[in-house]
This record gives sequence, structure tokens and C-alpha cells, in this order.
Amino acid sequence: MTDVEKRETAVAGPGWDYAPAPEARDVVQLRERYGLFVGGEWLEPTETYTTISPATEEPLAEIAQATPEEVARAVAAAREAFENGWSALPGSERAKYLFRIARILQERAREFAVLESLNGGKPIKESRDVDVPLAAAHFFYHAGWADKLEYAFPNRRPQPLGVAGQIIPWNFPLLMLAWKIAPALASGNTVVLKPAETTPLSALLFCDVLRQAELPPGVVNIVTGDGRAGAALVESPVDKIAFTGSTEVGKAIQRQLAGKHVKLTLELGGKAANVIFDDAAIDQAVEGIVNGIYFNQGHVCCAGSRLFVQESVVEDVIRKLKRRMGTLRVGDPLDKNTDVGAINSRQQLEKIQELVASGEEEGAQIFQPACRLPEKGYWFAPTVFTDVAQSYRIAQEEIFGPVLSVLTFRTPEEALEKANNTPYGLSAGVWTEKGSRILWMAERLRAGVVWANTYNRFDPASPFGGYRESGFGREGGRHGLEGYLRFE
Ligand code: NAP
Ligand code: MG
Repeated sequence: MTDVEKRETAVAGPGWDYAPAPEARDVVQLRERYGLFVGGEWLEPTETYTTISPATEEPLAEIAQATPEEVARAVAAAREAFENGWSALPGSERAKYLFRIARILQERAREFAVLESLNGGKPIKESRDVDVPLAAAHFFYHAGWADKLEYAFPNRRPQPLGVAGQIIPWNFPLLMLAWKIAPALASGNTVVLKPAETTPLSALLFCDVLRQAELPPGVVNIVTGDGRAGAALVESPVDKIAFTGSTEVGKAIQRQLAGKHVKLTLELGGKAANVIFDDAAIDQAVEGIVNGIYFNQGHVCCAGSRLFVQESVVEDVIRKLKRRMGTLRVGDPLDKNTDVGAINSRQQLEKIQELVASGEEEGAQIFQPACRLPEKGYWFAPTVFTDVAQSYRIAQEEIFGPVLSVLTFRTPEEALEKANNTPYGLSAGVWTEKGSRILWMAERLRAGVVWANTYNRFDPASPFGGYRESGFGREGGRHGLEGYLRFE
């Protein structure tokens, strides 16, 4: 263990430590090597790479790097499954499979939680209490819609699109898979899904769930690999592309699909404003700030990464925030006491380091609580910047790490103007005692989701998605189903 570089502003830790409380790893059985899941079978890969644990840099398994030919085989398998049975199944039959998948995910929850933390670096209490239960909830929710599409869209005669190509990121691997696959199957489509290069293991374990649920072969196909596999999927003859990831790749996909008859939804980055008014319950707001930016190491597209605090309470808020940050436990993702786990990859760590250095250079004040980081693996201490100007890169660009930028305001109008001063528009938070002020802000904030006196709340029934550079289309709720349907 090494001490984080000492900062002048660092406060002393509590002087004692929690005893280790590691979750057992042996609930997960890894294979040495994984192929591609195509037409219900495992295809031997032609090319492979190694997936690791970001907390220890320990190699976990060999993973297939899908070639364009292999992606084409997966798309052909999905097409065949769509045409030979799946699309003609009554909704009530499709629902049975979705219910089964949901129940199996619940039964195998511990296995999935451990695997998700092992491969992605997120704390076990998050995978156990958030990622896995929400993934199951998405399958339950969409199972309920499968035989009710006519009621969801009365007089519009909803029809499936065909084959959906789905590309997901590494921050919530299993949950993003559920957000994508559940609505696609509920509305009668078949799927080829590409997980992120760094976090393929939960999607590969999910193939086992599909077999257990006896889902017909080819209805869901999983192709692993880096961005090249994703690009090949976008190029292939699919009817829909659903993408979650960076704005840059999202724009490239949009260009690639221009003029083609392929339905597209994009869920991209964000730089959300979390706005604290002086009449807010400050202690609760501090919990909301911490949850907003340090949850999942800040690898969250809707993270509350820009904090706006009304000037009259800024000292109080910052003092309480720093004290609270001193109690965050950073370390082993498989320890049940861990609050902040490992950064997902070396590449992401370097990006965070580069942006944090720019914040210091541009003149912001940095604070990191004293904490000990493991020597191996990818780690970054929870960080807050004060004295931030709107023009600084740390106030403009998505850092996608545990780094908060604090700005201040005097009036609601000023808060609104500053909050909306971003090319993104995914989410926002408002903390105030006044209901009328919540409504006033929510109406004017240009964001797809606005949380009031809470943050990072998710429910499968509630549509999620952005505006502007945060993308278009919604996931969850009836709005999410619409992205997988055409209307006659
Ligand atoms: P990314 O490159 O956009 O990755 C998202 C997914 O797209 C991954 O599966 C990725 O494969 C794949 N991909 C990459 N290039 C592609 C291409 N040309 N065509 C089709 N698919 C392609 O994002 P990232 O590299 O993981 O992270 C970069 C930044 O994106 C982050 O720092 C963050 O700002 C943002 N991000 C946003 C979200 C979100 O939830 N909105 C999630 C993750 C990241 P690989 O895994 O091989 O890259
Ligand atoms: Mg990438």
C-alpha cells in the first residue's frame, strides 16, 4: 500500500480501519477461454485477447476478438431466429422466456455480482445491491409488456423491427445488457450484442442463463472484442442499432448509418449539474453529492459531476462534503465495506489523471482525503475541485471518474444558466425545500432526467435518455419499447 500523494488540504483519516470483509470468489467458475455465442452454440474464436481484473491486473480469461466474418455469422443467426419462429411467437410465450431469465438472474445473483466486481472493479455492494437486482427488474418489467404491446400503443399496430445490433460500455456491463436485451425481446426482435472490450465476462455468463431458460437458439447472440467488432456490427445488415458509450463513437455511428434504413438510439455522455439551494437539507444534500459523483467511481454517464452551490451555504456544504469524503473506503472491490473500487482500465485512469492535471494547471483548488491506495491495479482517490471557473476543462468535459467540480451561484436564474451551459443534456439534480422551485427548475433544465432531493435513482418503468450531445431515444418505460417497434 502506498499513501496518496499528500495534499496540503488533506484531512486526517479516522485513525482506525475496518477489518477486511471479503466476498467469496469461488462462487464464480471461470473458463480459461471463451468463444462467441452464436446460434446458441459457442464458436471457436480465431483471435483472442486477455481480460483482466482492474483491481489487481490479474488475467482472468481469454476472450474472442470477433472478426467481421464472425459478426456476420451472428447477424445471420439472429435473422434466421427472427424469421423462423421468434417474431411469430405470441407475446405471452415471449414473456415466459423473459420471466425465466429474470428469475434465473435472481437465483444466480451472487455469482453475477462477484463476477461483475471482479472484471469491472466496482464495489461488491454496488453490484450486489444495484446492478444485478436492477438487471433482473428490467427483465421482469419487460416480461410484463410482451403480451400487452397493443395496449401500450393503442390503434398503432406495433410490429418488431427485426435484428437489433446492440453495443454497450463497461461501466454497468450486466445492467446495460439488460436495458438493451429485455425491451428488444419483449417487442419480438432478435439480438446481436457486443459488450465492452474490458468487461465481457458477465455477458458471457449470461449466455449460460439463456441456455438455462431454453431461449430458442439465435434469439440472442453475443460477440466480444474491441471497437472493431462494434464497427463491424454497425456495418452489417441489421434493422436497429442501440448504442451506449462515448459521444465521439456515437457520432461516428450516426455518420456510418446516415441514409440507411436502420433505426438508431444513442445514449452518450453527460456533464450533469447537481444544484444545491440554500434552503436544502444540507446533510441529505451532501449524501446526494457523494452518491452523485463517487458511486461506481464516477463511471456513470449521469454522474453529478458539476456541483452548483448557492453562495450563502457554500462553506458549510464544502466543509461537510470534505468530512464525508474522509470516510469513504477506497480499495478491494470484493470487500463488502468498500465504497469506491478500482478504475475500470489503465486507459480510463490516464484520462482521469490528464483532466485532473489540467484542473490544477488552470487554477482550481484540489482536495483529496488521505487514503491508501493498493499498489497494483488502477486507482484514483475521490477528488473535489473548488474555485472552478465555467471555462475550465474540468467544468466542461466528461471526466468519467471520481472527480467533482464545484461552482457557485446567487440566484435561481444564475444556477439555471450555468447548469445549462454544457453541450450535454442527460441528467440533473435539484436540492431545495420548495416544491415550486423544484418545478421551476425541472421545467427549464435541459436534461432528460431531473432528480429532486435525490440522485442516481433508476427504475425500469422510468424512461432514461438525453438531449443534444447526450444522444436521443429513451430506454425503459413505454418510451423505451418504442425504439424497438415499427407501427403499421
Ligand atoms: P466507447 O469507445 O464509446 O465504447 C462504447 C462501446 O462502443 C464499447 O463496446 C466499444 O468497444 C464500442 N466501440 C468503440 N468504437 C466503436 C466503433 N467505431 N463502432 C462501434 N462500436 C465501437 O467508450 P469507451 O472507450 O468505453 O469510453 C470512452 C468515454 O466514453 C468515457 O471516458 C466516457 O466519457 C464515455 N462513456 C460513456 C458511457 C455512458 O454510459 N454514456 C459509458 C462508457 C463510456 P470497446 O470496449 O472496445 O471500446
Ligand atoms: Mg473505446
